[in-house]
Amino acid sequence: MTPIPLSRPPVDDEIRQAVLAAIDSRQYILGPQCRELEAELARHTGTKHAVLTSSATAALWMILRALGVTAGDEILVPSHTAFPTVEAICFAGGTPVFVDADDWYTLDPKDAATRVTPRTVGVVPVHLYGQPVDLPAVQDLATRAGLWVLEDCAQAQGAAWDGRRVGSFGRAAAFSFYPSKNLPAMGDGGAVLTHDDEVAARCRRLRDHGRLNKDVHAEVGFNLRFSELQAAALRVLLRRLDTMNDRRRALADRYAEGLAGLPLALPAQREHARHVYHLYVVRTPRRDELAAFLGARGIQTGLHYPVPAHRQPALEHLDPPTLPRTERLVQEILTLPMSASHADAEIDTVVAAVRKFFGA
Ligand SMILES: *Cc1c(COP(=O)(O)O)cnc(C)c1O
Repeated sequence: MTPIPLSRPPVDDEIRQAVLAAIDSRQYILGPQCRELEAELARHTGTKHAVLTSSATAALWMILRALGVTAGDEILVPSHTAFPTVEAICFAGGTPVFVDADDWYTLDPKDAATRVTPRTVGVVPVHLYGQPVDLPAVQDLATRAGLWVLEDCAQAQGAAWDGRRVGSFGRAAAFSFYPSKNLPAMGDGGAVLTHDDEVAARCRRLRDHGRLNKDVHAEVGFNLRFSELQAAALRVLLRRLDTMNDRRRALADRYAEGLAGLPLALPAQREHARHVYHLYVVRTPRRDELAAFLGARGIQTGLHYPVPAHRQPALEHLDPPTLPRTERLVQEILTLPMSASHADAEIDTVVAAVRKFFGA
């Protein structure tokens, strides 16, 4: 039996050639490939600016600094997310205020509204698993409470709401090029996308030691720059992003057809949304048994995420709230193999194994 990985990054000659050409250029950091990619990313997302950086974690941190977050500022964030979303808030000096999940596993705007205080400055919705959050409800909350919106798009590059790309709705957005994400690099990478001239300029400065020019540093930043080799590969893949996302959506349909009728909750696409299935997450109280059953058959599965942010030991000092929906769902979720490079036959193998587990 050939193992089926959770994710498989693309590698082919067009990508290799682009990287080799970047090697020959002898320009390795923030050169012409990065500048072109920034323009192409902004165009694809529908924002004025893109600022490449070393990871989505770095992008989130720079945006929070650019928005002027200071000690005591409260920021609404879903607990059910990758830890870096929350970590960046802490690292920027803010206080995360945890919000429960809705039926689509994303930030529940109604629960968020109950947690607003006079110290709340912003909200960081996460388009989790490739599914947009309820963007109109988040924007409505932000307008009513006077908050900025920072979209965490790390799992949702290319997703849309009513035809408009995620990452173009808030004051700014963070994207990730981690090798399993929808636009994968061959290492770490990320970007800030924004319409806001000042946020873009400030992030450009922060990623390069707070520099105004070669010799003058306007503020203390850090080294969060980006590689020409990675940019060259990403330019090839960005041209394929919509096709790769269509492939993920086709595989999600294949799963949905094959797994129908089982006692298993399948991911649904919410109305108005274009879901890009960064992860294909099913739900069952028999999650651990199912994972072991599939693992024994060479099928890799994942848990995204078994320990919610508000239960992380690192954040105990925040005296976190009880979040009943989040605490329940993290015990039942299981991620099945999914990427644009998976074959139909691999999905069929996973489907057959899951059906066998349930005796169907
Ligand atoms: C992957 C991820 C991040 C962090 O991205 P990096 O590029 O690895 O720093 C942040 N938020 C979410 C939701 C993610 O999935």
